[in-house]
Amino acid sequence: MAPVTKNHPIKSYRIDHAIEIAKKAHDGQFRKTGEPYIVHPLAVKKILEEWGMDEDTIIAGILHDTVEDTPLTLDDIRKEFGEPVAFLVDGVTKLSTARNGMRDIDTYLPATKDNFLRLMIALGDDIRVLIIKLADRLHNLRTLSALPPDKQKKIAKETLEVFAPLADRLNMGLLRVELADLSFKYVNPRRYEELKNLLDKYCESAEKSLQKIEHEISAALKKEKIDFELSGRVKSVYSLHKKLAKHNQNIGEIYDLTALRIIVDDITDCYLILGIIHSLYTPMSGRIKDYIAMPKQNGYQSLHTTVITKDKHIVEFQIRTKEMHEYAERGLAASFYYNEQKLTENYKKGKIEHLPTNLLWITELQMTAARLREGKKVDLKKLKLNLFADKIFVYTPKGDIIDLPNGALPLDFAYKLHSEIGDHVVGVKINGKMSNLNKKLEQGDIVEILTSKNQTPKTSWLSKIFTPHARQKLTRRLNHDAKKAQKTTESKKKRKPRKK
Ligand code: MN
Repeated sequence: MAPVTKNHPIKSYRIDHAIEIAKKAHDGQFRKTGEPYIVHPLAVKKILEEWGMDEDTIIAGILHDTVEDTPLTLDDIRKEFGEPVAFLVDGVTKLSTARNGMRDIDTYLPATKDNFLRLMIALGDDIRVLIIKLADRLHNLRTLSALPPDKQKKIAKETLEVFAPLADRLNMGLLRVELADLSFKYVNPRRYEELKNLLDKYCESAEKSLQKIEHEISAALKKEKIDFELSGRVKSVYSLHKKLAKHNQNIGEIYDLTALRIIVDDITDCYLILGIIHSLYTPMSGRIKDYIAMPKQNGYQSLHTTVITKDKHIVEFQIRTKEMHEYAERGLAASFYYNEQKLTENYKKGKIEHLPTNLLWITELQMTAARLREGKKVDLKKLKLNLFADKIFVYTPKGDIIDLPNGALPLDFAYKLHSEIGDHVVGVKINGKMSNLNKKLEQGDIVEILTSKNQTPKTSWLSKIFTPHARQKLTRRLNHDAKKAQKTTESKKKRKPRKK
């Protein structure tokens, strides 16, 4: 079993040198928290170290804000630390500018309408850019309380919509949970508290029965002479929020508020344990999932089963190897770590072969980026990034990104912009052409809503809406209008002189 080293700061002259340079460059700058600015790049450095990233990435993390915010230039960085570090810093700088409006990311990119795709390709050359950006975002979120409330909400919302799903896509489970829960607290504080309390209460009430189950399982596994680690995990607040929405807010239908995790050395033990659990308790039908044989799209591997105990407690088990566990928590970062180990310590082949290779889309992205730079033609439509399977990103004519669920229609887009815009729609242009309100929006569409002051919402629009958000806004407005109309007719009636 490969020892997994977390938080193993690399001692290096280059890193110390980068810290010195960053300190000098940011001298006199302060964060909104009141601390010297350098606290931020150093925190990013620490996060990257915890993720087990390589030296170049850590150096780029230390320098990530220098080119944008200080007199230091990319050339300076190139001279001091070499091309790979300069490339990474450049990538992070571009990424932050690109997100402010998403215009003109790079000159070598072809004219594709999908800015998000453009962005991913610009990054695709070295996915470590994204990892630095995620570390940057994580620290900014951890210190978000120092910002004014409107900024807090904006950043938190963007994190929930873009960065947390991205962390999920990269199978960085710990990061996803932290990003999502931190953001959700700002986006919907009341709901956050409510669900947090609910989870705490549930854990308290379930503790005794969980302990009993832990004892039973431990005894059974010891009897079989299996080495294992057993731990409990509590569902994150944000994923509970999302799951409740799927189940009509019925908490009784959610069986994985807590789960027991069993971590073992090899795959055969995983299946053996599944058998043991099913001989002790009754498995619930339809709840056995073999993500080892069929990994999730992001490479996640584990066995899941939900069982009912003799005292009628429902409990979920997750069974996986240490490597799978490591990968589920740190994802892409873990595979960088293992790759480096493979190179430096000459790992025996058998030890890393369980690592999922489902991150092929990254390789694809890198190859595409390389081809584009060489000036070769690339069919971007064939590049199925599918980063957000259930989401599309469309754009306003100004280049602002609007994210919508797959299946959204022009009115959903309009109501997402503002209810004032939604209420006054008279038409829509998609990619510069007049279109109709039944047209399903597609990834990368540029959508222009045409409005008129004299327009009022129509009941017939209800069939041209996909998102609950737009439906709610439209219904509210229609009800409001109907009441108003009723009042007007009533008052007209009253005003009519009565004939006697
Ligand atoms: Mn930063």
